Amino acid sequence: MIITSLETFILHVPVTRNHISDSTHSITHWGMPGVRIFTDEGFTGYGFTGTHAHLASDRLITDCISNCYAELLIGQEASDISLLWERLAYYPPLQWVGRAGITKMALAAVDIALWDIKSKASNEPLWKTLGGSEKNKVEAYNTDGGWLNLSTQMLVDDVLRLTEVDGYKSIKMKVGKPDHSEDLQRVEAVRNAVGSGVRIMTDANGRWRMPEALSVASKLKDYDVTWIEEPLWHDDVRGHKDFADAIETPVALGEMLYSLAHFEEFISSQAVHYVQPDATRLGGITETLEVSNVAYEANLPVTPHAGDMAQTQIHLSISHPGIELLEFIPWIKDCFIEPLEIRSGYFDFPKNSGAGTTLTEEAMSKYGKKVS
Ligand code: MG
Repeated sequence: MIITSLETFILHVPVTRNHISDSTHSITHWGMPGVRIFTDEGFTGYGFTGTHAHLASDRLITDCISNCYAELLIGQEASDISLLWERLAYYPPLQWVGRAGITKMALAAVDIALWDIKSKASNEPLWKTLGGSEKNKVEAYNTDGGWLNLSTQMLVDDVLRLTEVDGYKSIKMKVGKPDHSEDLQRVEAVRNAVGSGVRIMTDANGRWRMPEALSVASKLKDYDVTWIEEPLWHDDVRGHKDFADAIETPVALGEMLYSLAHFEEFISSQAVHYVQPDATRLGGITETLEVSNVAYEANLPVTPHAGDMAQTQIHLSISHPGIELLEFIPWIKDCFIEPLEIRSGYFDFPKNSGAGTTLTEEAMSKYGKKVS
């Protein structure tokens, strides 16, 4: 099955309530730069990454696909995913201009589209192609009730809706307010509201310096917080190791790491407890499976970060023994032919063939932007 052509796309999809913030980001839309890959047997693969919905930088990603990767893909066998992955990941002209960020996110979109083709051609959902079983139910945790721009009352109301009405047993809330005491007040308010039966995760999005990280995070144990995510700047391995040694609450990170080697450094340094690869920032499904294997070998739980809003990572989560919990945010789910569904806090098993990434024509026209 030969790759005949490809087309890039960029979608900008509105977030809940038109605007959300964490300690470092404030966005109105979720960006989906991506690619459709066409084959001579009629199967079309869809892959995308996730961004701030900043059109100029989204175009750098689609430019990388159409101007650098396309010539390495067209005419090649679509099912040779490992071979094509290596070809793109180690393409000499790109090694000098970027081994992370744009080139990796472009590679992610391509890799996901190739897996989409492979499982469509096998006429089965990707989780089956990857060896998954319906015995491996994956729990969803919802981040969409915990934004920093919500008042404490709105935060509590949202979390109660997610847990009492929608049935989630795990939620995540943002921390990193300028006034540190406010963070702890908000965590306390949520814990008091949900009681002891709900898991609460916290996320500082790399905001703190060490003294404030230690000061705030050392008190999270009083509220039975499952993890503190990205307490420090993303590349600081030694800092996270020192932090992890100093506090009782486990450390989660990984959404800003772009390679297996970077994950190996954090894992071997014992600087992380919950490992959070993201297939849209690593080189797709292929590299996320490799990271998950390394974490599993080190006896660390893998809890992927949902740059794809879980739409495709649900498949690798079902297939991997180290993944029992996956982040979910609902912003883009209705853009797909088969939207993800969650019941009583667990993901339904996708039924359609493919990686779950096939977009509706309506979403393409409603949210599509010019790629150049
Ligand atoms: Mg995070």
